[in-house]
Amino acid sequence: LICLGIESSCDETAAAVVVSDPAARAGEGRPLGHIRAHLVLSQIDEHKGFGGVVPEIAARAHIDHLDRLVAATMAEAGMTLGGLDAIAVTSGPGLIGGVMVGLMTAKGLALGAGVPLIGINHLEAHALTARLTDGVDFPFLLLLVSGGHCLIAEVTGHGRYRRLGATIDDAVGEAFDKTARLLGLGYPGGPAVERAAATGDPARFAFPRPMIGRPDCDFSFSGLKTAIRQEAQRLKVLSHQDVADLAASFQAAVADSIADRVGRAAKAFVAGHGRGGALVVAGGVAANAALRARLAGVAGTHGLHLVAPPIRLCTDNGAMIAWAGIERLMQGPVDAGQGLDLVARARWPLDPDAEQVAAGGR
Ligand code: ATP
Ligand code: MG
Ligand code: FE
Repeated sequence: LICLGIESSCDETAAAVVVSDPAARAGEGRPLGHIRAHLVLSQIDEHKGFGGVVPEIAARAHIDHLDRLVAATMAEAGMTLGGLDAIAVTSGPGLIGGVMVGLMTAKGLALGAGVPLIGINHLEAHALTARLTDGVDFPFLLLLVSGGHCLIAEVTGHGRYRRLGATIDDAVGEAFDKTARLLGLGYPGGPAVERAAATGDPARFAFPRPMIGRPDCDFSFSGLKTAIRQEAQRLKVLSHQDVADLAASFQAAVADSIADRVGRAAKAFVAGHGRGGALVVAGGVAANAALRARLAGVAGTHGLHLVAPPIRLCTDNGAMIAWAGIERLMQGPVDAGQGLDLVARARWPLDPDAEQVAAGGR
């Protein structure tokens, strides 16, 4: 199966062509498919001056670039739209203008080429990436840490997510982005904080470790953000080293808090499914090396193994959307002409009882 994926829900305009490997089986520890073409256009320059993503500017940038990006992706894949089994597109959740641009573009392409259109939940695409790259089998324990979401779920099959915990306030990527702004590190915040933290002392500031020891698996990051603001105000003028130490101390607090929460969830997961399974980390913050290292330790302690996709597949991309489309195709036929009635969704939780969690995001 071969699928084009289109992503435009935030500040990346992205497209990719992914091919499934018919001989690969989940659980064998090898990829279930491969990426034939992969292009991501970041809108960093468009948003830099504003210190964050401006939804209107993002939507316009997607309009300006998406058609040429798709054409370039198909050229890189060396094929025409008619040769695809499907076109998959993010239909939510995300910034509604951007999602609509992707969806309308994909509808036009699907109609013109006579191939089926599949609407993809962007969060599910993040979650399923570990099956493309590492052939992870169900059930697995999922930590989704991104710009708008922070949750732990037990994933027992396609569309079968049971939430074990989620943030009660900010998403973790949001906390990185706000901390970056506070420290004058600019946008995009996560990678900037990680770079600054590399030369900092994680023990210089004793920031709170939110939620540690609580008998649930929830997260909270807004208090941490406040603590950093207060510390920065106390220091008044921040030297280069102060910024590095603040970034490192923040990152250490985040990693400690997440490690504690995931440890609790891992214990519950292993009690239900036994040892030997996968802890999958997904979403943009999964690109963070300090966090990945901590999570590998937590997984090992509980008899799980950590699966973290390569960094370019953690942040938003088209391959994860294309792969989610292939997963849908593998479940049964999708007719050409299908999907033309899809609507864009700003909110679209993975699990049925997540509405209140979604409200905690952006
Ligand atoms: P969502 O997936 O929830 O809809 P999104 O698509 O905007 O949100 P992603 O692209 O998945 O989010 O992730 C972007 C987030 O990841 C940003 O908040 C960014 O700061 C964060 N991020 C990216 N790289 C790193 C890193 N190396 N360390 C920490 N955070 C990072
Ligand atoms: Mg982004
Ligand atoms: Fe994302």
